[in-house]
Parts: sequence; C-alpha cells; structure tokens
Amino acid sequence: MTELRQAIRDPLELCRELGLNPQELRGQTPGLQTGDRLFKTLVPRSFVKRMQKGNPQDPLLLQVLPSPDESLEQPGFVTDPLQEARFNPLPGLIHKYESRVLLTLSGACAINCRYCFRRHFPYADNSLGAGALQAILDYLKAHPKINEIIFSGGDPLATPDRRLQEIVTQLQALPQIQRLRIHTRLPVVLPSRVDAPLLHWLQATRLKVILVLHINHPQEINNELTTALGQLTSAGITLFNQSVLLRGINDRPEILAELSEKLFAADVLPYYLHAFDPIEGAAHFATDDTQAKNLYAQLLASLPGYLVPKLVREYSDQPSKTPLGW
Ligand code: SF4
Repeated sequence: MTELRQAIRDPLELCRELGLNPQELRGQTPGLQTGDRLFKTLVPRSFVKRMQKGNPQDPLLLQVLPSPDESLEQPGFVTDPLQEARFNPLPGLIHKYESRVLLTLSGACAINCRYCFRRHFPYADNSLGAGALQAILDYLKAHPKINEIIFSGGDPLATPDRRLQEIVTQLQALPQIQRLRIHTRLPVVLPSRVDAPLLHWLQATRLKVILVLHINHPQEINNELTTALGQLTSAGITLFNQSVLLRGINDRPEILAELSEKLFAADVLPYYLHAFDPIEGAAHFATDDTQAKNLYAQLLASLPGYLVPKLVREYSDQPSKTPLGW
C-alpha cells in the first residue's frame, strides 16, 4: 500500500512535519531516539494531517511520538500484562474465554501506538502459516463451544485481502462458527483501506461480521474516515469502538463525551473504554482506577447509557473482562 510505504518512520521527521523543534521537546532528540529504538516509530501521513501543527501536546501526536520515559523501569509494568503467554496453546491462537478465540493474523500495524499492550508480543512465534492454520482448525473442531473468531494482531487488516478471504473460507466451513470479529485500527489511520476488495469478502462470508475500531480521541475522526465507515455500514457490517484511557490524551469527560457523540454520528457504537494495562515502557500513559471511575461517573451523568462505553479492566484469572465503576 503506497500510503504505508510513505509513512513517517523517523521521530525527527515527524517533528519537522509538525513544525516542532525537537530541542524544545521533553527528552529532546536523544530521548526521541531512545524511545524509537525500543519501539519503532510508524505514523501514516494521513494521521499526521489530523494533528495540530506547532502543538507538542497534540493528543494524536502524543500517542505516537517516542519518549525517553519508555526506557524507565516502573514496578508492576511488565512485558505481558495480560499474561497472554498462558493462553497461547498454538502459534497464532489465544484462547482465554470459553466461546471465542483470538487469531494473531499479523504482527504488522499501520501505526505504532506507544501505549500498545502488545508492543513486546512474540509475533515471530505466532505467525499464521498454512500449518498453523490447519492446527487451529483442528483445535476449533475439538472445542465445539467456540462460536466466535476474533482477528487481531498487530493489525489483522495489514494482511492482504486474498489471504484474509482464504482464512475466512476455512473458518466458515466449520458450522459451529457464527461470528467474525475484527479488531483493527487500520481503517482509522488509513481510511483508504476500506476499498472494494475488502468490502467484497466482508459481504461474501456467511459469518456475522463485527468490526471493532480503535479510536481514542475525537480529533481522529475526519471526513475520510466517516466516509469509509459509511461504506462499511452500508455493507451490513456492525461497527463498535474501543478506546484506551490514556493520561494527558483522553482522560477528561468532555473529550470522551465528544468522542462518543462523533462515533455514534458515524454509526459506531462506543463499546469498551479500557483501563490502562501496565505494559513495560508505557507507564507515563497510565491513569489510576479511582480517576477512571470518577471520569466514568461523569460520563454516565452526561450521556445516554448507549453512548457510554463499558469501563473495563482485563485480569488474566477472570472468565471475562471486569467492569469497573458500576
Ligand atoms: S494499532 Fe493496535 S496493535 Fe498496532 S500498535 Fe496500535 S494499539 Fe498496538
């Protein structure tokens, strides 16, 4: 994809593009490069265009600009906060909850979010080649209570459509599978990913398809994205959104309320607001649960219930995500 090839991969170029002097930023040039070494910078230009030039606190910029804080060790912040390694019975498969499994289709993303809870995930051990897929199909047959597949990653839509269609064809041949959920940020940062080949296979499958987007701030929603979401809705795809509660980015009730309003105007239902997972290298984004619950109470008071995403935290020993704040 041309837009992906032209994405910014150098934090200094990102600063230049926004008219920011790295010497005036916290951490300055060496700090940017320290963060970049730990987790590569990747930002498509269409996402950069939604940032405010000259604003070092822009909420979209803060999600993607490396920080020297990423090298700080913080107690309790670990490489696998959800203990996914415990639920990884086969390469490419995470089975945590009874009725659904997650397939890590791709280690690639169109954007590298600094707070990503999978920034240390062993993607190389989880690639989904032909042998791995056959093993997963056999696993599904042996677990007939599984009726929903979640495509995740990385970003599953970084996988070519032809390959996605092949995988879906094999999954839908199993009568037990009813739903396909796709967790993706790709249409958000590159709305042009919603094109005819994608819409074709999404409409061709017998599975009920749910696309779960990842949008954290209302400024991420522009006209191109709204048009792409309209195409998905017209194709009969159910659209949900999940956000991560991020300190200094969306941890104010008016921002989250505006996000919910804009999502619903684009036919997207706010689904989850994730309390921050303690991932190593991203402690500077963490909010505490008391603050999260207060914020949530304010959202409940200002929005109709259907516009309030569920505030949840994931604990590895629980049979589902755990609601906070109600
Ligand atoms: S797009 Fe998703 S998987 Fe990729 S870096 Fe961002 S949060 Fe992580």
